[in-house]
Parts: sequence; structure tokens; C-alpha cells
Amino acid sequence: MLGWICAYTPEEIFSALGLDSFRLYGIGQAAAASLSYFPANFCPLARGCFCEGEEMLRDSSLSGIVLTASCHALVHLANGFKDNACRQKRRLFVYLLDLPRTCGFRNRAARVSFSLSLRDLVRELSSFYGVTWDEGKFWNAVEEHRQVRSLLRRIYLFQQERPESLRAAGLLEAVRAAGRSKKSDFYPVLRSVVEGLLGGEVPAPGSRAEKLLSGMRRRGSTGGPRLLVLGNSIPSVYLDLFEEMGADIVGDDLCQGYRYCLPEIAEEADPFAALARGYLERVPCPRMLSAGEYKEQLRKRLESCRPDGVVYHALKFCDSYLYQFPLIRQFLADEGLPVLYLETEYRGVGLEQARTRVQAFLEMVG
Ligand code: SF4
Repeated sequence: MLGWICAYTPEEIFSALGLDSFRLYGIGQAAAASLSYFPANFCPLARGCFCEGEEMLRDSSLSGIVLTASCHALVHLANGFKDNACRQKRRLFVYLLDLPRTCGFRNRAARVSFSLSLRDLVRELSSFYGVTWDEGKFWNAVEEHRQVRSLLRRIYLFQQERPESLRAAGLLEAVRAAGRSKKSDFYPVLRSVVEGLLGGEVPAPGSRAEKLLSGMRRRGSTGGPRLLVLGNSIPSVYLDLFEEMGADIVGDDLCQGYRYCLPEIAEEADPFAALARGYLERVPCPRMLSAGEYKEQLRKRLESCRPDGVVYHALKFCDSYLYQFPLIRQFLADEGLPVLYLETEYRGVGLEQARTRVQAFLEMVG
């Protein structure tokens, strides 16, 4: 099993090469176990993923990990994995994928550079795993991934239209499940979820689809302010908290959420150029030096979601999200939208303290 973390990792490549892949989230992991490698003031997502990967390495279910050079935490994580595999005398494929610092909307150089990095990745994977690249299989993989992403976007559309009927944490769970599933297996499951959600045939009791669907059913009060959730990997309990307090969540822009569903890979002669374009021409992550493009994309999202207020979530010690916040706060102020800044440790710690702030924010917005 090949692990990966960042939403800029083109999973299509793994599927095309016939490699099973698995997105690490590091949720609920005993992050303390990572302290021998990383300090306590280190990205909690990276520390959680290190523990999750380490566990898989121990039980031999992890054969490799592809990380992106997105931030210093992931670069250190690559080194941590290498060192740990060496100590355990395990053969582990550890690859750090080079990622440009600008998104690809107007930057051809960024797209060319990323396409070359993707070629290198395929070369290294092929030589480590003894697999061969087949362009026909690649385009099949692109289609399978496209189908799953478009169903997920259908659910996001439902959330925008009927937020009172959808539990946001349940949707996030479905997106996270997509990152861990073989797309050809997950597509029929998701299709059945969408059908059930839209009032069609309900999935069979006890099936995977039924579990996902029941996780998305919203209970509790509704009809409060419409919230858009921005930022990085928010713990699900916080989404439940907003809804429990009456807010309706109308969308998100999380890298483990909506942004995962966005890459559109259009057919072109060079498959790597197509991938680079698809991944670099979607809403940019704040680690990109593309604040102007982000604001453009955010404006479109505000138009479609029509929120009354915004929650901006940053993980503790995540520099990229911290330094983007003042820009976004100003942008939202210009749009007349109030914003709640929330910082978490990637788990439910501090939930009760946040409750008072959330309540005050909802009273102000509502
Ligand atoms: S926040 Fe950005 S850089 Fe970090 S994992 Fe998500 S997409 Fe990648």
C-alpha cells in the first residue's frame, strides 16, 4: 500500500500503475509517539500522519509513501519516514514530490515544472515496484477518478441547496473515504449514497453506502446562519458543534474536503501536462504564492454558497494558513462578511472553549 497526504498528489498515477494507494489523515493517532522525531510545536497533522504511517510500516501494510514538498513539515516528515524505515530495516519507498510555489492559472512555467516532476515520480515508482506505465490505463484511471469526484461535487451541491438536511461531518467523511478507496469500488457505493440522498432507492441496510448515508443525515436544530468553512483539516467534531448550535454549513474549502473534489483532467497529448494543469488550476492552497487567484476563486464560491458568515480554521503551527489569514480577513471584510478564526490541534481538545466563541459569533451573524 502506497501512502500519500497532500491534495496535490495525483492519485491517478498510482491507479494507472496498478498500485493501491491510501491517503493518510492521522486522525485520532497517538501523536505523542512522534515526539522522538518531531518537537511538540510541530504540525499536528504531520505528526498524526507519521504515527499512522509508522503503525502501517510495523504491520508491513505500508510499502511506500509519496509526500509533496508543500511545507517544511512534510519535508521533515519524509526524512522521518526514511530514518524510521532504516531503523526498522524495512524497504520503504519514500518520495518527495516537487511542487511549484505558484498555481497554474496564468503560469505556464509552473505547469511545465510540475509535469516534469510527475514524470520523475512515475520513473521512480516504476523502478521500485517493477511496474510499467501504460497511457491507456492512465486515461481509464482519470475517468474513474473523475466519476467519483463528480459524485462528491453533486453532494456538495445538495449541501448548498439543502444544508438543513445534510450533516457536514458526514460529507467530509465520504470525501476522506474516497481518498482511501479504489475508485472503481467506491464509485457504485457513492452512486448509491447520492441516489438515497436525492430521494431515490435507499442503500441496503448494513452496506457501506448505508453507513455513509446515515452519517450524512442531519439531526438537530437548523435554520440558523449559513456558514462557509475555510482553512485546513478541521476536526469533524467542530463541524458538528456549529450545526448543533443551529448553524447551517453550506460548503467548505478544505484540502480534505471540497478541494479534493476539484481537479479536472482534460485530455491532451501529454498526460503529465494534463495532470499538471488539472491539479494546478484549481483553488490554490495557501502554501502557493497565489493569493490573487485564491481570492478570485473564493469570490465564486461565495456567490454559489451565499454564506452569512465564514469560519476560518487553521491548525496550530501551520504557517501557511496563519499568514494567509490577514489577507482573507480583509477580503471578507470588503465583501461584508464576518469571520471567526479558529485554531485547533487537529482533535477535539478545546471544543468546550470554542463553544462560547462559536455561540457569540452565531449570535452576531444571525
Ligand atoms: S494544506 Fe495544502 S499543502 Fe497542505 S496538505 Fe493540504 S493541499 Fe497540501
